[in-house]
Amino acid sequence: MRTLNRIFTAAAATLALGGSVIATATPASAAARDGVCDSGEFCYYYNSNHAGSLSDFTGSLGDYGTEQPSCYEFKSAGSGQGLCIKNEAASAWNRSSVTVRVYYNSGYAGSYQDLAPGAKVNLNATLKNQNASHEFNPSTRTDLSDALYSGGGGRVTCYFDQYTTTPGRHEGIDFAKAVGADVRALVSGQVIYIARGANGSGGLSTISIYNSSLNKSIIYLHTAPRSSLAVGQQISRGQVIADEAWRGVSSSSGAHTHVEMRFGRQTHASKSVNDPVLDNPNPNSFWQSQGYNVR
Ligand SMILES: [Zn+2]
Repeated sequence: MRTLNRIFTAAAATLALGGSVIATATPASAAARDGVCDSGEFCYYYNSNHAGSLSDFTGSLGDYGTEQPSCYEFKSAGSGQGLCIKNEAASAWNRSSVTVRVYYNSGYAGSYQDLAPGAKVNLNATLKNQNASHEFNPSTRTDLSDALYSGGGGRVTCYFDQYTTTPGRHEGIDFAKAVGADVRALVSGQVIYIARGANGSGGLSTISIYNSSLNKSIIYLHTAPRSSLAVGQQISRGQVIADEAWRGVSSSSGAHTHVEMRFGRQTHASKSVNDPVLDNPNPNSFWQSQGYNVR
């Protein structure tokens, strides 16, 4: 009866998450979510050195949930049993036959640690107790911060909806490299709006590129649009469209490029600063579908 109860609880938890489990090939020997780290599975442990309660998976999971009863939890007897696994795992064992990547953020985003098939390791200092998603057989993607700039070398300075000191909700992702760095289009499409602006807080620049097959607009702010850029122009992925600048930013040290994905044909970015309403959806899955890592 005890076993039956546990199976029922696991099934209910899966249902409660709305089927967000991304299925991968499930080896016949692996019974998922039963608190046993079977061959074919990827397992988290509450404590370092594979001690404490464990949580076993046969596939990728982009969102662990954060509260009971719907979160994914540590299953087996031992320290940590019943706790949600998000940001609580200290070690992991990859018993699958493919690489498993553990991410700092939900949605397969942010810093990560790769576990080769068979790897039985403590999570590194970045990921220990900071695990938020994991992916079986991660595809080879390009980091957005590399793709945005010719020669790569950019960095994310603020993720979507991750303002810490600015009031409002951040509707895009901010990247920075250096004033004058070539900025490239991340998605192909047609230029539907350009505002050139000027360096300084009052001089916001905007480039909107609409991709009709995706029915999405990618909007770039603060960078200086190339003089040759024109409304109506078709832009290919990777084409240089701007030079990094500080248009609409108070000082050159704050130069960056804000990249915002919006549904439909949109000429302007959503308001972020001082606006408590989030208009755009989280773009991480979109960027991944375009072959990018969100970092
Ligand atoms: Zn921004």
